[in-house]
Amino acid sequence: MEDAIYFEQIKQLVELQKVDNAIFTVRQKVEKTPREIWELEQLFEKSDVQRRHILKKISHLEEQQKRIALEIEEDTAKIRKSKNKLMQVSNTREYQAMTREVDNMEKVNHSREEEKTALFEELTNQQCALADTDLGHSSLQAELEVKKSGMEDKLEKSRGEMAVLEQTRRQVSKGIPSAVFMRYEFIRSRLEHPVIVAVKDGVCSGCNIAVPPQTFIELQRGQQILSCPNCQRMIFWCEHFTMPAEPEKPTTPATIVE
Ligand SMILES: [Zn+2]
Repeated sequence: MEDAIYFEQIKQLVELQKVDNAIFTVRQKVEKTPREIWELEQLFEKSDVQRRHILKKISHLEEQQKRIALEIEEDTAKIRKSKNKLMQVSNTREYQAMTREVDNMEKVNHSREEEKTALFEELTNQQCALADTDLGHSSLQAELEVKKSGMEDKLEKSRGEMAVLEQTRRQVSKGIPSAVFMRYEFIRSRLEHPVIVAVKDGVCSGCNIAVPPQTFIELQRGQQILSCPNCQRMIFWCEHFTMPAEPEKPTTPATIVE
């Protein structure tokens, strides 16, 4: 292969990689939002379960409250009745027996009053807990609604960006010889982003591992498109091209040569 052809092809591939970097960024954006929503939904569901649990407790406590109020009312009436009867009893033994009965009923009613107070306290606690949970619950709900409506806009925008990028991609790929393009597409479908990377100081910027000296010498000759023996990505020598920005990570979209 002639040097000129080699350089032209690398240039085309790098152009294609630039478009793919942009596509990669848009895809990541698209994936990020649903993940955030999913996480929020998990939190919302959790707070919903907690809320229902508290509501169930409150309704149970309220039922107990009603029952106990009714029992107190009934027993108070009974005690009043017994006390009235007590006035009419002349027999001492019967009087004592009835007094004991009234005492017992009063004791039972007294313990019911204590239970009523305890129930009231517990109910107050649960209502406070419900207010707390409701606060978090409604703010989560609001956040979720904002995210969801924002997501539609974002997705719409991303779809637009993607359509433009796909169009650019078709144009850029047109000029690339089909065998070279197929090799690029093959790597793209099997490896993590990106496909073509620069070798700088003998190190592949795709996997950060030094390429063997023989490969590096061949690469510098610039006659044939080579692959990194370690990560299989297409490689080129950075000094054959001007590097506007150095990549920090192999997956940074800035891996590209102008
Ligand atoms: Zn590599």
